[in-house]
Amino acid sequence: MHRSMWLKEVSDDLKQITALSGDVSCDVAIVGGGFVGLWTALRIRELDPGCSVVILERDVCGGGASGRNGGFVMSWWPKISSLVALCGVAEALRLAQASQANIAELGAFCAEHGIDAHFRQSGWLWTATTDAQRGAWKGVKALCARMGQDVFNTVATDDLARRSGSPKHLEGVMEASNATVQPARLVRGLRRVAIQSGVKIFENTPVIRFQRGVPARLSAPAGCVTARRVVLAHNAWAAEIPELRRTILPVTSTIVATEPIPERLQAIGWTGGEAITDSQLMVDYYRTTRDGRIAFGKGTGMISFSSKIGPRYDQDVALNRVTEADFRTTYPHLADVRIEHSWSGPVDRSYDSLPVFGHLPNAPHIFYGVGWSGNGVGPSRLGGRILASLALGLDDEWSRCGLVNRKIKTFPPEPARYLGGIMVRNAVRRKEVAEAHNQTPAWLDRALSRFAPSGLEDKST
Ligand SMILES: Cc1cc2nc3c(=O)[nH]c(=O)nc-3n(C[C@H](O)[C@H](O)[C@H](O)COP(=O)(O)OP(=O)(O)OC[C@H]3O[C@@H](n4cnc5c(N)ncnc54)[C@H](O)[C@@H]3O)c2cc1C
Repeated sequence: MHRSMWLKEVSDDLKQITALSGDVSCDVAIVGGGFVGLWTALRIRELDPGCSVVILERDVCGGGASGRNGGFVMSWWPKISSLVALCGVAEALRLAQASQANIAELGAFCAEHGIDAHFRQSGWLWTATTDAQRGAWKGVKALCARMGQDVFNTVATDDLARRSGSPKHLEGVMEASNATVQPARLVRGLRRVAIQSGVKIFENTPVIRFQRGVPARLSAPAGCVTARRVVLAHNAWAAEIPELRRTILPVTSTIVATEPIPERLQAIGWTGGEAITDSQLMVDYYRTTRDGRIAFGKGTGMISFSSKIGPRYDQDVALNRVTEADFRTTYPHLADVRIEHSWSGPVDRSYDSLPVFGHLPNAPHIFYGVGWSGNGVGPSRLGGRILASLALGLDDEWSRCGLVNRKIKTFPPEPARYLGGIMVRNAVRRKEVAEAHNQTPAWLDRALSRFAPSGLEDKST
């Protein structure tokens, strides 16, 4: 199994595995030991210490997206236009504010529980690296201002070049509340705290059969869990569930990481720990690490037939190459710096890039929270609140929130999803390559790109 740089750093911790053997019954069974599953389990135990909770994880906790991501801890402010359209101004404001407050709360949680996740709250620079990307944040910034929220602050061009360590950043805004983490340290820390709080975690335990009766039965190779309620928190793999197949599209995201270069970071001026993105749909996202590396990611957007998650979602040479090329373009003055790590992971894209919560049709005891769309490191903690309230049958601001049981635009069925997806992805890629060279994209590529699902932010361009 190809592991991310983050998971390699905690490899000793990955060896302590208990797999399910025999039959177990519980109140709530959670499928998936990533951030969503773990936050949900912790929240259930906090709200109802008498509730027995079991997590079933096919690999190790963090083996999915949670141990492989860029470690950007973001809010939902960049999606404020979509949130307002979805659930109105008041609820959108509540969710965005909660997602912002959640970032500092996550840092406080780590401090309280001794999780050394390298939490650093140094803000996020949302930038333009081509003329076509200029002002991508304008609509979101203006909407925030109309809502009386001062979230995105314009950064002067020379300041931007200095703080990001590259003059390729033409203009940008800063959202100051955002943070970065070493994600594998966070997810493994959550696992430890969850076990201490009484959650039973079985790793190396794939759910291979799922019977939806009451109670539900989840079968693994060497045992079976019977549960009154079930939470599906298995991210991109949830596309295997027929009822969720058209809700999400698993796409790749890819990261390359340099050798440690602390002196070079000092020399180019990128010393403040800022997380940075450009404004492409196939977004470039990059940050520095505690040992002075650059981790540079790209939404590479590869898809598979029938949304099957195969080995190319872990590692793919062509995707590494595309990602490294964008790193070299953004930091040409670091051309001699070596890439030491590269990996990919699956992202569960929903059409509007916001998560979707609810219960399966005709199964009011089986809940799901999927569609994080590349912004799940921070918001998964709020997702845990939503899923815990649903699983405990509570009627509160989380079980009633605007992301639960919402109307969604779905992806087409196969084979249209795969064939159409490839056509649209290639068009987006060609369009963004043309824009990177300040050329006008072909009209057909522009037209096909409009069919792509929305991105990490609600962009104005
Ligand atoms: C390369 C990459 C970069 C990213 N960068 C960022 C970022 O910088 N910031 C951000 O906010 N988000 C980012 N994301 C997204 C983010 O990582 C996720 O949204 C977040 O980790 C939420 O994870 P989760 O718990 O839903 O899923 P996961 O962490 O994927 O957990 C789901 C788990 O379910 C398990 N599973 C699957 N099938 C089964 C089964 N049948 N039985 C039992 N277990 C099963 C999997 O092994 C997996 O561990 C990125 C994602 C990737 C892949």
